[in-house]
Amino acid sequence: MTLSIAVLLAIGTIIFTLFVRAKDVPEPAPASPTAHLEERKAQIYENLRDLQFEFRVGKLSDSDYQKTKLDLQRELARVLAEIDALQPAQAVQSKVAKAPVSAGHVAGNGAKPDAHACPHCGATFAQTMKFCGECGKVMAS
Ligand SMILES: [Zn+2]
Repeated sequence: MTLSIAVLLAIGTIIFTLFVRAKDVPEPAPASPTAHLEERKAQIYENLRDLQFEFRVGKLSDSDYQKTKLDLQRELARVLAEIDALQPAQAVQSKVAKAPVSAGHVAGNGAKPDAHACPHCGATFAQTMKFCGECGKVMAS
């Protein structure tokens, strides 16, 4: 009885240590659409660790251990694939979210078409120029 309590305490300590360490790894976006998958991934890792420990202390036969481990690894691969599939979509979303900001800047420049016009002869150019391409006078105002 005392021994099993000691073993349980040891398991608890190991799981706690590993779990806390995994939690220390910062997640880029806590409220991301992959959050539940990350959670699932962590859970599978934890199950794998539990399984390995149970096997090591002799609670599981080798075949049981190998079979369950394979099941968990397959599920892990599936979850990782799902996370991978979701992450490019996130990148596109953030690009789309940023787009209106730069579009606003472009519109702001577009509202002042005279910015690239020569104050002397009125010739307009696609970009800001130091000297007018038409009359050769300084365009910077
Ligand atoms: Zn000019």
